Amino acid sequence: MRDDLRDLYQEVLLDHYKRPRNFRVMAEANRRAEGQNPLCGDEVTVYLLLEDDVVKDVSFQGAGCAISMASASMMTASLKGKTKEEAEALFNRFHQMLTEESDTDLEALGKLAVLSGVREFPIRVKCATLPWHTFRAALEGSTEVVSTE
Ligand code: ZN
Repeated sequence: MRDDLRDLYQEVLLDHYKRPRNFRVMAEANRRAEGQNPLCGDEVTVYLLLEDDVVKDVSFQGAGCAISMASASMMTASLKGKTKEEAEALFNRFHQMLTEESDTDLEALGKLAVLSGVREFPIRVKCATLPWHTFRAALEGSTEVVSTE
C-alpha cells in the first residue's frame, strides 16, 4: 500500500474512533444484539430499526480498541438505508476483504476500504469484524451473544 494512502486511512480510522458516528442507545430499535471479542476485550451492542426489510436506522454502544470502535462507526454509516439483502452483501464483501487473499473490489466498499490494512494483522481482524457479526445477529433476530471465539 502506498504510504500516503496508508496515512489517509489511519486518519479516517482515528477520526471515527475519536468521534464515533451513531454512538447511542436507540430506544425505538426493534432489533438488538450484543457481541464480544474476548481476545481483545471489545464489547459492542448494535441497535437496529428494521422496517420492511430496510435498515431505517442503526446505532451502537460499546467499548473497545480503536479498530473495533472505528469499524462499528463506519459500519453504521454505511448501512443506513440499505435493504437486508444489500446489507448482507456488504457484510460478505467486507468479510472477504479482511479474510481472503483474493483482491476484493475496494471501490464497492467505499469508505470501508479504510480497514483493508487490518488484513495484515490477523489478530485485529476479529476487532474489525465484531461489529459486523453483531449487526448480522441483530438482522437475523438472534438473541445469543455473539462471540468471536
Ligand atoms: Zn480490538
